[in-house]
Amino acid sequence: MSDDHLDPGVVGPAGGATGLRTHTCGELRRGDAGREVRLAGWVNRVRDHGGVFFVDLRDRYGITQVVTRPGEASAELLGTLQELRPEFVVAVSGSVAARPEGMVNTERATGEIEVVAREAEILAPSAVPPFVIEDETTAGEDLRLEYRYLDLRRPALQRVLELRHRAAQAVRRHLDGLGFLEIETPMLVKPTPEGARDYLVPSREHPGRFYALPQSPQLYKQILMVAGMDRYFQIARCLRDEDLRADRQPEHTQIDLEMSFAGEEDIYAVVEGLMAEVFSRVLGVGPALPFPRIDYDECMDRYGSDKPDLRIDAEIADVTESVAGSGFRLFAEAQAQGRRVKALVVPGGGSLSRREADALEEEVKLGGAQGLVRLKVAGCGLEGGAAKFLGAEEQRALLQSLKTEPGDLIGLVVDERMRANRALGRLRALLAGRAAAAERAAGAPPRHAFLWVRHFPLFEVDEASGRIAPAHHMFTMPLAQDLDLLESEPLRVRAQLYDLVMNGVELGSGSIRIHRRDIQARVMKVIGLDEGEAERRFGFLLKAFQFGAPPHGGMGLGFDRLIMLMAGSGSIRDTIAFPKTTSALSLMDGAPAEADAADLRDLHIRVEGGGAGSPAPAGRDRVSS
Ligand code: ASP
Repeated sequence: MSDDHLDPGVVGPAGGATGLRTHTCGELRRGDAGREVRLAGWVNRVRDHGGVFFVDLRDRYGITQVVTRPGEASAELLGTLQELRPEFVVAVSGSVAARPEGMVNTERATGEIEVVAREAEILAPSAVPPFVIEDETTAGEDLRLEYRYLDLRRPALQRVLELRHRAAQAVRRHLDGLGFLEIETPMLVKPTPEGARDYLVPSREHPGRFYALPQSPQLYKQILMVAGMDRYFQIARCLRDEDLRADRQPEHTQIDLEMSFAGEEDIYAVVEGLMAEVFSRVLGVGPALPFPRIDYDECMDRYGSDKPDLRIDAEIADVTESVAGSGFRLFAEAQAQGRRVKALVVPGGGSLSRREADALEEEVKLGGAQGLVRLKVAGCGLEGGAAKFLGAEEQRALLQSLKTEPGDLIGLVVDERMRANRALGRLRALLAGRAAAAERAAGAPPRHAFLWVRHFPLFEVDEASGRIAPAHHMFTMPLAQDLDLLESEPLRVRAQLYDLVMNGVELGSGSIRIHRRDIQARVMKVIGLDEGEAERRFGFLLKAFQFGAPPHGGMGLGFDRLIMLMAGSGSIRDTIAFPKTTSALSLMDGAPAEADAADLRDLHIRVEGGGAGSPAPAGRDRVSS
């Protein structure tokens, strides 16, 4: 791969010039030979071959080799070059020379030329950096985050931030073209309904009162619909004080949008067009449209997950009936015990070693299943411990319903329907990950398998409290055909609620919103939110809805995660210029920090067991969990 990390065409021949340089370090080509130029950048590497210098000069656009010719360099120039160390900032004037045949560096866009130095000036020296600035760094992530400005000099990270910028521009251009208005919503807000913990900001003017930082612009974008804005979007910061997992950040960015007079299909069409535009503009290939749509229930039965990876076709099958007559008690009694026998074929899995097959079983156990019954598909039937209990007829029925090839492995889980689905869903995700890794290793271009998962249940049972809670947020519209079940069987009510999924990752969620007060009141009743509490928390939205709320819906797409997938990067932190650790610390600047005692007094805050004078959180922190 080339070490030039930006298409130099982006900054055109004149575009890179400033008062201090004529070109960027990624710009010069063979056609420039003979030109007098002045470059400025960081010393990537300097080699002194007995008074003949080679300096690799680096900036965001690439690397250019600067050389001296024996006997031609002035003493002053040699003196300056001798002082150079990695990461010094220097300006070099000289002439462009074509490199002789055989000396061309094909790995580098500027590899056909070098700049023969006449003069050099150190613009800024550098302390010895704590790690070498290169893509394949061995520096630990804590150290890289502490010196993020050095980390960000690494071409790989510069490429990701550039990709992020291009994607943001494509989003803006595309949505603008569809009539969406980019409108900023406030950062100091009333708590929003996303269900995570709020970051609170004390009010100096109003003792004892707090703003929240927005978990999303949800309520404000809905109010913008009441305000007649019709189509809104924002590349919005969302702040959630939750326990962080590896791919979460306390502040993340969403492509947030909302549309009036829109149903599900309208939102799908906008977002599909948006994804096609962003992928084709930034990566050069867009996904095929439209994306498949699949209802949550069916999705769980077929893929065992609400975010299936459709880069593989494998589906879970319910084979309860096919094996009901078997002599194997586990299979025969399943139905009577309210359990299902579910199967997933592992292609070629028949030749797995015992240890490898045991690892598959561990995966389904992590998904909650008791175990994995394994059957090998041989040329003339099935093999494996349980096979002897299956008669020829049953074996035939099983094989027919599963579409197997000799050499495959059939993995079976006997459990309550959803638990069996989830367990095999984990196995399926593992297989999909392996298949994708094998494709990558074989050099195949990355695939982007999108789908919509829709009609999730409106409610779920909150694990902590055991109470019924909204699965998304309480402004989500139930499916019209399930409205009658709202009071009698709330957990069966499905919602106009959808997720966009790509390669097994949830990219975002959205819904059609409740714009009718009567339905909102019924939903609030189900979740046990009384009028007074609703008034206190969302009164301003409910009030706005009294003045003619248009039907509306929208979604929020995780922008950091999208960039992570587009860049093929392993970490969400690589997509954010200044990320936090998994314990929400910023290692570069030391946030969160103590506040001044005087500031706390102004804010009417007394800190118990912390605050001014108490030890700051450890400066170093593990970033990966
Ligand atoms: N506000 C929602 C979220 O952040 C997205 C939406 O419903 O538009 O998940």
